[in-house]
Amino acid sequence: MIASRIRITGVVQGVGFRPFVWRLAQELDLHGWVRNDGQGVEIAAEGAAEPMRVLLERLRCDAPPLSRVDAVEASAAVLEGGKGFVIVESQAGRVSTAIAHDTATCADCLDELFDRGNRRHAHAFITCTHCGPRYTVTRHLPYDRAQTSLAHFPLCAECAGEYADPADRRFHAETTCCPDCGPQLSLHDARGKPLPHEPIVGALRLIRHGAIVAIKGLGGFHLICAADDAGAVARLRARKSREEKPFAVLLANVVSARDYTEIDTEEAALLAAPERPIVLLKKHGDCDLKLEGVAPGLSSLGVMLPTTPIQFLLFHEAAGRPAGRDWLEAKQTLALVATSANPGGEPLVTANDQAVMRLSGIADAFLMHDRDIVSPCDDSVIRGAQFIRRARGFTPRAIRLASAGPSVLACGGWFKNSICVTRSDEAYVSQHIGDLDNAASCLFHEESVARLLELTDVQPEIVAHDLHPDFHSSRFAAAFAARNGLHIIAVQHHHAHIAAVLAEHRYEGPVLGLAADGVGLGADGGAWGGELLLVDGRHCERIGRLAPLPLPGGDRAAREPWRMAAAALWQLGRGAEIAPRFAMQAAADGLAAMLDRGVNCPPTSSLGRVFDAVAGLLAVRAVAAFEGQAAMLLEGLAQRAGHASPLTGGWRIGADGVLDLMPLLAAMANAADPAQAAAQFHATLAAALAEWLHLAAKATGQRTVTLGGGCFLNEILTRALTARLTDAGLQVLRARRLPPNDGGISLGQAWVARHFLEA
Ligand code: ZN
Ligand code: ZN
Ligand code: FE
Repeated sequence: MIASRIRITGVVQGVGFRPFVWRLAQELDLHGWVRNDGQGVEIAAEGAAEPMRVLLERLRCDAPPLSRVDAVEASAAVLEGGKGFVIVESQAGRVSTAIAHDTATCADCLDELFDRGNRRHAHAFITCTHCGPRYTVTRHLPYDRAQTSLAHFPLCAECAGEYADPADRRFHAETTCCPDCGPQLSLHDARGKPLPHEPIVGALRLIRHGAIVAIKGLGGFHLICAADDAGAVARLRARKSREEKPFAVLLANVVSARDYTEIDTEEAALLAAPERPIVLLKKHGDCDLKLEGVAPGLSSLGVMLPTTPIQFLLFHEAAGRPAGRDWLEAKQTLALVATSANPGGEPLVTANDQAVMRLSGIADAFLMHDRDIVSPCDDSVIRGAQFIRRARGFTPRAIRLASAGPSVLACGGWFKNSICVTRSDEAYVSQHIGDLDNAASCLFHEESVARLLELTDVQPEIVAHDLHPDFHSSRFAAAFAARNGLHIIAVQHHHAHIAAVLAEHRYEGPVLGLAADGVGLGADGGAWGGELLLVDGRHCERIGRLAPLPLPGGDRAAREPWRMAAAALWQLGRGAEIAPRFAMQAAADGLAAMLDRGVNCPPTSSLGRVFDAVAGLLAVRAVAAFEGQAAMLLEGLAQRAGHASPLTGGWRIGADGVLDLMPLLAAMANAADPAQAAAQFHATLAAALAEWLHLAAKATGQRTVTLGGGCFLNEILTRALTARLTDAGLQVLRARRLPPNDGGISLGQAWVARHFLEA
């Protein structure tokens, strides 16, 4: 007989790890105990040598599906001659473990959900150790029912029995409950008054009659209506003042989604993954006819499959309440628009009373319940293998760094803000927080900092922020650092973009970085956004840039692509064309004169603004309804045109490293066929950037290229450029675990801050 103390670290709490250990111990005839503590899971075990060896092996390879085992460390212990194996009380203490992410209802729970004989038949809060809410309901670690928003739902005798029975699949399932002891679903009218109907039946009936129903999800409310009811979709748009932004649709399964979009094997797997992100899929030609107004004019549609029992029950009801799970494999006709309930770009609505108040005038009814959402968490959005928004299902999963290092708090940027906290060799990036242009989002940012520091139990040594001093995140960083007597470091926006990609690839550099972006404040005070950088830890040298275009009207130019088109025309010496070409725009008359005098026309090297200029020149879009819209429409147009060859002589590269795209812009200004031109623009841009990088690689001897910045959400550009660089024998690093846009820069800021501390 031997005895060991075993420590397991990683994501091992709230994922059924202790029951897994208990079952292993029964099987291997071991004695001792297992418990959660601040560092993860601790085991004291004694038994014969061979079973003890098998235990260590299987702790690693048979771990439960939601867990992530980072380390299993065993040390010899004194034999205590214990009898049997037990799960003992959690030990509080310094936290260095992680909470699991929220996941969709698992197959076993679905079996029970649709089984009329099961006591959890149609139970809207069914969950087990392998599925259900985690991050969004957890207040503190260690993960225990008392620390979640299920705390005030005491288990009934039957549930308590399952919870305490190591052989049951709900053994220590912290969020378990049943119709008798769990939260209650309820349906309310537009003013919050309870409606007498059975909630699922009533909600579906309302939706089918064209109503907009606010439904409480894992990380916040969704606004839901019938996706094939053009009137309801138009009403939702009008009420949400979201004139053109695409909506995502909620569909029963992959088969049903094939009615509207093309889906390859990887996309099908992603749709059905337990994280249940919204996946952007290529629309069929008739998609806009079937789902009028859902994602007008765009080539892709965001699709999400049911995540929560409530969502499953809506589809179940629509299918006529069949028994069993077979119906979920068959095509279902119910198609629902499901858009985040975040009026005015503010954070998600999570609390019931807030929902009724903030969604007044938008929602016709509310399907909600009394299980609180502790942390708001938006839906994640993925296209291809690329994150566009990283939130529910992925937060708070840590990103592994190259090495352990000091703890850093990075406060992110302005748009699509996220924050990042590092601990040892892990980086915790928060869910998507949003644009920090309103008080509610700024408050959410501050709460997110407090929450992430608490959940990771980190006292940062340094605070990082964007170089721009006026961002809310930068001001917050300064105040936080002052309050806590910490070092502070400002990180240039595009340095951070490249560093974010290096961090997730655990690549230490030096490296060539191409930042293709909207606008970020440059080290020289200019408006950067198309930069060739040489990044080496905390050092970042700008070795190339795009030839600048003026931004006529400053910030307005970023929202009005016609202004960038005018800037391009002016730059080409064709200022006289501005007024006639953009006669619809009131400001067009005076713009040439404004450009001549250089009044309120700061120069920018942003590639994002070049996309805007082309969208304006091709009359794709004069004024953008939302950030990035012009570039998205341009990409959609190019996709329809198919293959194009680069324009010969479309660019010039100067000895000073300046890439000049004016010849390409001249061609765009003269183009007759917008779709053909859009395709040619993408092809030429990819060729130009590839040559630019190739020359820089030769000059610097660097063979690794890192691509960062919002422009790399453009699939055509990213694909074509990557192919060219790879063909030229260069290694390409791209954003995989975070979006390439500003949603990822907090990780880059943290990475640079660590190199600063270590230097
Ligand atoms: Zn389950
Ligand atoms: Zn119960
Ligand atoms: Fe950026």
